[in-house]
Amino acid sequence: MNEDQARFLPVAEPDLGTLEEQYLLDAFHSGWISSIGAYIGRFEQAFSNFCGVEYGIAVSNGTVAIHLALLSGGVKPGDEVIVPTLTFVATASAVKYIGAEPVFVESEPEIGTMNPIAVEKAITSRTKAVIPVHLYGHPADMDPIVEIARQHGLFVIEDAAEAHGAKYKGKMVGSIGHCATFSFYGNKILTTGEGGMVVTNDKTLTDRIRFLKDHAMDPNRRYWHPEVGFNYRMTNLQAAIGCAQVARFDDLILRRKRILELYRKAFSDKLEILINPSRTWATPVPWFVCALLPKGTTHVQRDSLMERLKEKGIDSRPYFYPLCNMPPYTYCRKVGIKENGLPVAEDLSVRGMILPSVTWLSHEPATRIAPLFQDI
Ligand SMILES: *Cc1c(COP(=O)(O)O)cnc(C)c1O
Repeated sequence: MNEDQARFLPVAEPDLGTLEEQYLLDAFHSGWISSIGAYIGRFEQAFSNFCGVEYGIAVSNGTVAIHLALLSGGVKPGDEVIVPTLTFVATASAVKYIGAEPVFVESEPEIGTMNPIAVEKAITSRTKAVIPVHLYGHPADMDPIVEIARQHGLFVIEDAAEAHGAKYKGKMVGSIGHCATFSFYGNKILTTGEGGMVVTNDKTLTDRIRFLKDHAMDPNRRYWHPEVGFNYRMTNLQAAIGCAQVARFDDLILRRKRILELYRKAFSDKLEILINPSRTWATPVPWFVCALLPKGTTHVQRDSLMERLKEKGIDSRPYFYPLCNMPPYTYCRKVGIKENGLPVAEDLSVRGMILPSVTWLSHEPATRIAPLFQDI
């Protein structure tokens, strides 16, 4: 085995260049290394512009962005918030921070995003908000969700942590709900290490979120705090990296699309395996390269395939587990979700896997990865 063949292929790696380095050092040398400094406002402006939205509020991560969005939308303890069962845990955790209850709904086949019919069925008199998640770079079907929410007076938060730059029927994700949240964690499409942002066109929400994220201090009276707030601020150092990442965004996406094309070619004779399936109304962004194994694949088969990949120095990840099956959410059983969860989401969770999506790949999808998928 030559050195190249042996090279370990990680699932993800941040794509940082000289511009990130330059801005980061500039922030460092300015002395403004906490959460005051010129890069914060610049990053908020640049990223909200990018989303086609008026306001952006930078925060310390994507999870607290959801927490603040829920608070600003008036979600209270005991309220219900509709959440897809197939998502990263943070979407539900933020609902729990409030003392509200996530109500989990079924996925759409293949793409895994929240099923709008299931959303409508899940509404009760306690429902306050709905959080569509743009899963693995693919937008949720927003039109029916927004329409259902309008009819029932629900607050809509797009969780766009995995879909920077994706479009739904020509509209940027993040510009469709009452507000949207992003994460800039190290493996996300656009990263600041840790970090997040809420974006919205609503000035009242913006003011409320700014107030809450900075200890709920009265903007006109220093050290006067009319409510209990939070320290959910982003640092100027992180924002400096973020400014460079926004400037390089087209390049970041182009590189990811190139990798996805390599995989599509490598898997083109394996018709039973779907690589980043999508709907015609969506313009997804490749966050990760996702493979959906053939119908009927069991989790034992999927996991042993992942084991075989690992033995060859190829990293991979399973899809998320449906949240309704996890210990903090067993109360779902009481509302009719059975032991095996919601079947569409369950099936995707078993058949889905994430493949190395680092941007320096070249021949590997064809020579090292696809051949291992021969007989599953
Ligand atoms: C990454 C992610 C988050 C949370 O982001 P952090 O910055 O890690 O807190 C929230 N929702 C989804 C869907 C995510 O993928």
